[in-house]
Parts: sequence; C-alpha cells; structure tokens
Amino acid sequence: MPEKLRVGFIGLGLMGRPMSLNLLKAGFPLIVWNRTQSKADSVVKAGAMLGRSPANVATRSDVVITMVSDSPDVEQVVLGSGGVPTGVIDGAQRGSVVVDMSTISPAVTRSIAQRLAEKGVAMLDAPVSGGTVGAQNATLSIMVGGDPEVLQRCMPVFQALGQRVTHCGPNGMGQVTKLVNQIIVTGTLSAVCEGLLFGAKAGADLQAVQRAVSGGAANSWQLENLGPRILSGDFAPGFMVKLLQKDLRLVDEAATEMGLPLFTTLIAQQVLRVAANLGLSDEGTQAYIKALEAMAGVQARTPSS
Ligand code: NAP
Repeated sequence: MPEKLRVGFIGLGLMGRPMSLNLLKAGFPLIVWNRTQSKADSVVKAGAMLGRSPANVATRSDVVITMVSDSPDVEQVVLGSGGVPTGVIDGAQRGSVVVDMSTISPAVTRSIAQRLAEKGVAMLDAPVSGGTVGAQNATLSIMVGGDPEVLQRCMPVFQALGQRVTHCGPNGMGQVTKLVNQIIVTGTLSAVCEGLLFGAKAGADLQAVQRAVSGGAANSWQLENLGPRILSGDFAPGFMVKLLQKDLRLVDEAATEMGLPLFTTLIAQQVLRVAANLGLSDEGTQAYIKALEAMAGVQARTPSS
C-alpha cells in the first residue's frame, strides 16, 4: 500500500461528517459519498473529492470506511442491491480494506466479511464509542474485529479518529464488544434519568444534584454529557433514540440466540418504545427521561423545556 493511504468514506451523518473532517485534517486523500448528496457539500468544501457511488469510492481508495445506520444499510452500500453494480464490492481492488464503523449485527458482519474475502478484499468491523463529541475531538474508542495484520495497516487511519484502538478478536468481535458497550450505556442512561426524576419529585435542586453526584462514585459519561442537556432542555440528537432502539434490537437478537437473560437492558428497551410512541425517535437518547416523566407524572426539567 502507498505511504499515505487513500481513504474512502461512505455515510456523512452525525458521526461520519466530523470523522471525515478529522481524516482531512490528518492529511489523508479523502473521497466521500453520501446517499443524500447535499450532506457531502461541507466535507467537499473542506477538501474531499466526491465519489459517484460506493463502487466508485472503492475504486479510488485503499481503505473504505462505512458509517451508516443498520445492518441492511451496510449490506446495501457494501454489497449493492438487486444485482446493480454500485456497491463497494463492485469497485474494490484486491488487497484493499473495508472498515465498517457502523454498529450492526455481528452475524451480518461475518457474512459481509466472507463475501469480501472471496474477492480478495479484507474487512474490519470497527464500531466506536464516544458519541458525536468523541467524533469531533477524535477521541473515540474503536473496537476492532478482524485480522490483526490488517488492523496494523489501517492504524494511521484509526489514530486520526480515536484515542483508544482495541483488537477484540476475529470479524464480528468488534460488534460484540460494541453491544456490551450499549448494554452498559443503556443501564447508565436509565439510572441517570431515574435518579434525576427521583430528585425532582423530592424537590431537590437538580443543578446541585448534577454538580455533587458527578464529582463522586456515580459519575459517568451519561451523567456528565447528558445530565446538563436534560436540565437545560436540550434534546437535540448526538445519538438518536431510534439508533439506541436499533442497538438494543441487536442485543436482544443475540441474547435470544444464546438463551441469555438480560434484565435492565430489556426494561430500558420498553421505556424507549414509550419514547418512540411519544414521537421522540429523532431526539437524542437523553429524551429517555421524557418517557419516564410521562409514566411517572413528574417533570424533571423546567416546564418550558
Ligand atoms: P445518522 O446521523 O442518522 O447518519 C446515518 C448515515 O447513514 C447518513 O449519512 C445516511 O444517509 C446513511 N445511510 C443510512 N442508511 C443508508 C442506506 N441504506 N444507504 C446509504 N446510506 C445510508 O447516524 P449517526 O449517528 O451518524 O450513526 C451512524 C452509525 O454510528 C450508526 O450505526 C450508529 O449506531 C453508530 N454510532 C452513533 C453514535 C452517535 O453518538 N451518534 C455513536 C456511536 C456509534 P442520508 O444522509 O442519506 O440519510
């Protein structure tokens, strides 16, 4: 592979856009594609080339990153759909690498990796944690499944995107690790929201609660980042309710297959269903508290927010 890897980036959403800007900042030649083309404008303005299709991006790249929503979406951009030769697989060179950084099913990951391997193309599953803040600041934690030698080749790319890169095992194990992450995130989110709701019902000053609790043993990423947003009534998405629902569906599918009972996570899944029924699917996951408020008849924010 050449000195500076040519990087392709597919999926310029809340995460993909800042990640692609960080690759440009690190000096990688970058070619991008987004289904809604207008969302690529700002990245092209910053110096990226615009690909005509996922296949065209792959033809012009050594490493192609995908950052789309769900398993069928990765299948669509990587494998193409309905036999139309537009997928990454149709353009990828032998010896190139596809790095899927979306959060999707471990089983689907393994089957895509198999299809790519048949064409001499390697795959890494490399989902991330750290939110849009981590994507902007290049401080993501990256959980990698696949051949460790391929990971080493891609390391300069990962170093431009995150702070911690962990090899978790063969293809699929990056995604398994990410689902562990989501189980823990969901439990913490649920605990933060219940705690704030309890404080509100008891008449506590929630700003004081936030300040005190985040300085002690109950601090967490969720409390530090989402607590202040809840209190100020900021429900704009960093990570959307519907994407956490998708992740918990993936957790539930895998746990059901293994016969593993999961308690807190699956109760939280029902609360998120309430949130979706309240029309909150596109809000940030901090809107979890709105579902609890609706069920408990308590408001944990100022009435206007
Ligand atoms: P997002 O803002 O909704 O962006 C999704 C991107 O995927 C958009 O560019 C969208 O294109 C594209 N896409 C979706 N389906 C597609 C399809 N069938 N074909 C082509 N493009 C498609 O979501 P996000 O927050 O960036 O999340 C992306 C992934 O990262 C998800 O798997 C999510 O679970 C994971 N993740 C998110 C966070 C977070 O905090 N947001 C943190 C860690 C991991 P359009 O612009 O055309 O809609």
